[in-house]
Amino acid sequence: MGYQKNDILTVTIEDMGTEGEGIGKVDGFTLFVKDAVIGDTAEVKIMKSKAHYAYARLEKVLQPSPFRVVPKCAYHRQCGGCQIQALSYEKQLAFKQAKIRNNLVRIGGFAESFVDSIMEPIVGMEEPFHYRNKAQYPVGTDKDGNPVTGFYAGRTHSIIPNTDCALGVEENREILEIILDHMKEYKVPAYDEETGKGLVRHVLIRKGFTSGEIMVCLVINYRGKANRGIEFLPKQKELLNRLQQIPGMSSISVSIHTEKTNVIMGKEIHTLWGADTISDVIHVRDMDRQGYPCTGEELVFHISPLSFYQVNPVQTEKLYSLALSYAGLTGQEAVWDLYCGIGTISLFLGGKAGQVYGVEIVPQAIDDAWENAKRNGITNATFYVGKAEEVLPEFYERLSAETDKKGPAAGQADMLHPDVIVVDPPRKGCDQACLDTMLKMQPEKIVYVSCDSATLARDLKILCEGGYELKKVRGVDQFGHTVHVETVCLLSKLHHKM
Ligand code: SAH
Repeated sequence: MGYQKNDILTVTIEDMGTEGEGIGKVDGFTLFVKDAVIGDTAEVKIMKSKAHYAYARLEKVLQPSPFRVVPKCAYHRQCGGCQIQALSYEKQLAFKQAKIRNNLVRIGGFAESFVDSIMEPIVGMEEPFHYRNKAQYPVGTDKDGNPVTGFYAGRTHSIIPNTDCALGVEENREILEIILDHMKEYKVPAYDEETGKGLVRHVLIRKGFTSGEIMVCLVINYRGKANRGIEFLPKQKELLNRLQQIPGMSSISVSIHTEKTNVIMGKEIHTLWGADTISDVIHVRDMDRQGYPCTGEELVFHISPLSFYQVNPVQTEKLYSLALSYAGLTGQEAVWDLYCGIGTISLFLGGKAGQVYGVEIVPQAIDDAWENAKRNGITNATFYVGKAEEVLPEFYERLSAETDKKGPAAGQADMLHPDVIVVDPPRKGCDQACLDTMLKMQPEKIVYVSCDSATLARDLKILCEGGYELKKVRGVDQFGHTVHVETVCLLSKLHHKM
């Protein structure tokens, strides 16, 4: 017989699940305990019980784990953004290393001994707080009718006020307070998800860490005509004047979003003040023969509100440096960079390759990519808007048909059979059609950059069954205190002996 809801048990936490939850056993019965740290002995309360396992809530830590630390943020349990803030940073890294390894074994089907032989130690952060250059705060109304911003409590859509996230930059707080004050003073209604009424939905804040430039974009449920010079917000000028006082403020815009969805940003952007983009410099170092970083290259990137940009700029330099060293370019190669965003990886590849072809779904990001190429004097990169799983097969089909007839058009042969393909997909990984085409193109190397090691493992299995060998794997911690981890892999084509 199992346990009942509300039963109180004492359990020692012996393991951690992929979402950071503590796992322990009582008489062979498994308990999943959110917020419990591996090594804790704790009193827990059963919330939901099944035949062989139950979900329980941490009530009281009786004997704290040696890996338990005092969390910096008072809201870490309610917020759920930092699932493992109470775990020492060193142990967080060990958890992430194990998470990648286990996914490769369980989902990827690779032998444990093989994974251990090729996996390099995870690259950690020196300063695991205040690392995020981007914040997206939801705006709502509290029970007294005042505008609030903070984070969604658990899986609900009620907002717990907090303008001071321990992962974000210090300017976030002042910017949010200016916006909330303005809304209160001029009775600007926050958006209401239930009714679809109200104006302000979200606030996006981005900061270029090297430039100091700050971007604010208010996502608004604006239904009027969006002519030039229009007032999207009551007393707009006053709000803009106040926001401009923040040191570094460079771009203030609105994003029009009238649809009833969970998607944060709307597609239409209007700049109200300052530039359309902010800039940031990324310095990617080359590795010397011993694997130590040396000079390398510095590029400047302009980023618009709708474009993806890595959220942890310090770790991004290490991530890109690793991806570049895995690509091992010597100057003449043709490279596809799929899911290229604003062309960050593409342009670093461009400095070392013959030709680079980037593919990205968001049109504004591709506009940024072209501008960034120009700005950095890189002339051997070309960008295409579209889904990787459509653009790549289209090129492949067209170029191989032309090759059958008369040979491919001049300069396009290398697109058909590139030397290297780099992919950096979102969490859901690569589409099957994309993987199939990659296999048909037969590049010597594939560099897979992933933010979800479960879908990575699934895709690696397909690539390895299709004639590739996994050569190297390394985690990079881009997201301290969360359960997420970035992974870079090198695959190379198997050459069968005749
Ligand atoms: N390599 C870039 C971006 C990685 S994030 C960097 O390091 O900054 C993943 C990118 O893939 C995002 O820019 C997202 O807009 C894009 N994307 C999502 N689905 C896609 C698809 N099906 N085809 C192409 N790009 C896609």
